[in-house]
Amino acid sequence: MDYDYDLFVIGAGSGGVRASRIASTLGAKVAVAEEYRVGGTCVIRGCVPKKLMVYASHFAEDFENARGFGWDVGDTSFNWKTLIERKDAEIDRLNGLYVKNLAAAGIEIINGRATVESPNSVRVGDKVYTTKIILVATGGWPTLPDVPGIEHAITSNEAFHLDELPEDVVVVGGGYIAVEFAGIFHGMGAKVTQLYRSDQILRGFDDEIRGHLHDEMIKKGIDLRTHVNINAIEKVDDGLLLHLTDGTELKTKAVMYATGRAPNTKGLGLHEAGVACDEKGAIMVDAYSKTNVDSIYAVGDVTDRVALTPVAIKEGHAFALTVFGDTPTSPEHDAIPTAVFSQPPIGTVGLTESEARATHGQIEVYTSDFRPMKYTLGGSDERAFTKLIVDKKTDVVVGAHMVGIDAAEIIQGIGIAVKAGLTKAQFDQTVAVHPSTAEEFVLMRTPRA
Ligand code: FAD
Ligand code: NDP
Repeated sequence: MDYDYDLFVIGAGSGGVRASRIASTLGAKVAVAEEYRVGGTCVIRGCVPKKLMVYASHFAEDFENARGFGWDVGDTSFNWKTLIERKDAEIDRLNGLYVKNLAAAGIEIINGRATVESPNSVRVGDKVYTTKIILVATGGWPTLPDVPGIEHAITSNEAFHLDELPEDVVVVGGGYIAVEFAGIFHGMGAKVTQLYRSDQILRGFDDEIRGHLHDEMIKKGIDLRTHVNINAIEKVDDGLLLHLTDGTELKTKAVMYATGRAPNTKGLGLHEAGVACDEKGAIMVDAYSKTNVDSIYAVGDVTDRVALTPVAIKEGHAFALTVFGDTPTSPEHDAIPTAVFSQPPIGTVGLTESEARATHGQIEVYTSDFRPMKYTLGGSDERAFTKLIVDKKTDVVVGAHMVGIDAAEIIQGIGIAVKAGLTKAQFDQTVAVHPSTAEEFVLMRTPRA
């Protein structure tokens, strides 16, 4: 049968764009539908604007540290509107580049919301397109709990476009987005309270890393409270009154929920097409990103595997090689390095200490807790922490974690070593880069008792 396209991609985000470009390079006729802006969450309202705002918010501390090195910084002030305008201009530039690159690769961009009409057709508005293969790459969307007054809350989507910086903000949640935005708002000068419902932020990360970041955030002045949540949000004359689960009240100008994201599958026509989703609405796929319907694949956040841009990209690439390159490729999900752009940031790869104990039995743990050199003159009391977890039987480094300046930059390199399965002896044989924070990873010599 003749189809309009070999591949129809729904969603021009990280996974969809990569899959489209590789499939097109491999000779496929490709269309991609996008209902908002090409680039997706990462470029438009995720990684990129977030990282720009992290940079912006760090200057307050940088100015203070500069004084310790003899700089007369003078008076400083921060203009929120300027930052938002400049950030938006950069997003526009990137969005334009994505559109240009797709067009240059011969991919047709169809603007509008797409739904799956059948295993081999997709609807956008009143047009139906036929296609040999459908790739669903629709990402995720912030979820809000059912709390009275929740309509007064914002999510990360709105946080990127506030008219002004609120004097005070309450951030709800303890995941990546919550800790990153607590740091952003705090650095820009807002009074920040973060509420986390359980005992420690960043569930799933190594416990010592979680504890270290918690302490550093409190030292910086973020009012980070655990075991507490919001029962109701009440609009009052000059802001919001939050009724908390511990019986107290909290007055604030803004409340931001960062309580997780749900796969974008509602109303997509998947059920009608026979595509199986799990109880959270995530599309279930095999190791090659194929659903239970032979012509329909899915990659990225919509599959709820690992919700990170480089992972969505890897899955999109592997899909295209598998289906259009005659090279079955399964995106591996082990030893994925990741960074949390908290202040200070976290870098991590491989197993946490408790995971390693559970899977490897006997392990050795090496840690170092120190004051980075920059702060000896700078005056900040921020401390860094590094940790290596080694399988005692094989000497292989199975986990590496850190909290401290430049963690994202450092963990990328360490990630190669962990992914390659290098041993602690090989780490020790590596010459240190001195003076640096990264050198701790080759200098920790005495296992913790
Ligand atoms: P997306 O990038 O979300 O793309 C999906 C696209 O599909 C969107 O453009 C959407 O408009 C479109 N779409 C949805 N439904 C339809 C439809 N029916 N028809 C047409 N189009 C549709 N990850 C990192 O690795 N590092 C970070 O620093 C980082 N920071 C983040 C910060 C924030 C605030 C957020 C929210 C996320 C962050 N992430 C980060 C996660 C990262 O953005 C996602 O993992 C990544 O974007 C997932 O890519 P995707 O292709 O699955 O989906
Ligand atoms: P997460 O799933 O990481 O965190 C959600 C947080 O909200 C958890 O602390 C959770 O608590 C809490 N929570 C859930 N429901 C409620 C509720 N009803 N009331 C109060 N708290 C609640 O989601 P995020 O939104 O932070 O981020 C989504 C994903 O996006 C991340 O997991 C990550 O994969 C990706 N991302 C990556 C970034 C990066 O690479 N730097 C940056 C930002 C996002 P509990 O622990 O108790 O479940």
